[in-house]
Amino acid sequence: MSVSTAVAEQSVAEPLPVLGRDVTVPLVTGGEVTYAALDYAASAPALQRVWDDVAAYAPYYGSVHRGAGYLSQLSTDLFENARKTVAEFLDCRDEDQVVFTRSTTDSLNLLAAALPADCQVYVFETEHHASLLPWREARVTYLDAPRTPAQAVATLERALAERDPAGPALVCVTGASNVTGELWPVRELAAAAHAHGARIVLDAAQLAPHHPVSLRELDVDWVAFSGHKLYAPFGAGVLAGRSDWLRTAEPYLAGGGASRKVSRRSDGGVDVEWHDTAARHEAGSPNVIGAYSIASACKALTEAGFDALVARERYLIDTVRAGLAEVPEVRVLSLFGDDAARVGVISFVVEGWNSSHFAAALSAEYGIGVRDGLFCAHPLLRTLLGSDPQSQGECGAPEAAPGEKSLNAIRVSFGAGT
Ligand code: PLP
Repeated sequence: MSVSTAVAEQSVAEPLPVLGRDVTVPLVTGGEVTYAALDYAASAPALQRVWDDVAAYAPYYGSVHRGAGYLSQLSTDLFENARKTVAEFLDCRDEDQVVFTRSTTDSLNLLAAALPADCQVYVFETEHHASLLPWREARVTYLDAPRTPAQAVATLERALAERDPAGPALVCVTGASNVTGELWPVRELAAAAHAHGARIVLDAAQLAPHHPVSLRELDVDWVAFSGHKLYAPFGAGVLAGRSDWLRTAEPYLAGGGASRKVSRRSDGGVDVEWHDTAARHEAGSPNVIGAYSIASACKALTEAGFDALVARERYLIDTVRAGLAEVPEVRVLSLFGDDAARVGVISFVVEGWNSSHFAAALSAEYGIGVRDGLFCAHPLLRTLLGSDPQSQGECGAPEAAPGEKSLNAIRVSFGAGT
């Protein structure tokens, strides 16, 4: 069976223009080839449109929030309008707030720092380390890897049923896995959380670039994502959602911008009144260009239309999976099985190959850029590979030589620019 017969010819939208589309790279075999960026799950190339928007704004940027000059006012408007654009993109409710952070990791650490006392956190062991680890100062229940979406909901419900409903609780869940690309049943998990009086934060780092994310429809309390995975450049991220825990928490960073009033006390100390808006957690001079780029990417994706983007990506996913299925040595990693709904993130191992050597060969011989390794999800890789990820023997790859990087899987990921 060939790939072309396995995947019916479809008419799909053109890819969105991204930076680096025509970059050529040298091959070890001689000559050069157009680079194939297939590592979107790590960082997606920025959309040309985002870059153009930033270039158009660059000559005009100025200080934010404090300057009286025209360009300062312009920058302040752009920064605050970026907040509104992101709120629209995420279909925020009236009472939600958008905090600009550095990344998804930063957003989840911010929320972890804002947990009320005695908060019980529930997180599946399958999460990316960014959503697995920030809660370690709280009381955490790590949930075993489910093998179906329904099992995920049942596992969470069972765990929540045992908790004291009087205390605060938070569930943290990914929308789409950065390893398998599989979609998690977010709406159902949110319903389960709320039925047991818990709140839920969605790690949308891999979901937001591929599917619309509506806080209202999914009924999640918070969403976190990163600009650099959403076709904007590095350096900015978002935490959006309920303001109550954030409004009363200690500021994530103490400093200017977060404080409304600072005064000396008669005993010589200092009293601070903190803002109770997003500014409370955005101390210091903000990353205006980062926020502006995220807003530009949100607009570009909305204008392109997620229906068209999803249809195009479906075609790409089917094509890649059909191609991999033709190679008997390839084992695609999956928690939920072949029929799972997924985004364009596919990890696999190749029998007889060390994954890092395989990925290096794809780059050196074909100009294809993928990622190999454990993808910051060690417990999940352990489950998927059925072995300790540090030992490569059981997944068909040779043992890594002493001192050699020990890596276990290869990941191909793509999106709107592919
Ligand atoms: N969550 C998921 C599912 C991810 O894939 C990643 C990054 O790969 C993160 C969180 C962390 O994102 P960042 O490195 O931008 O903080």
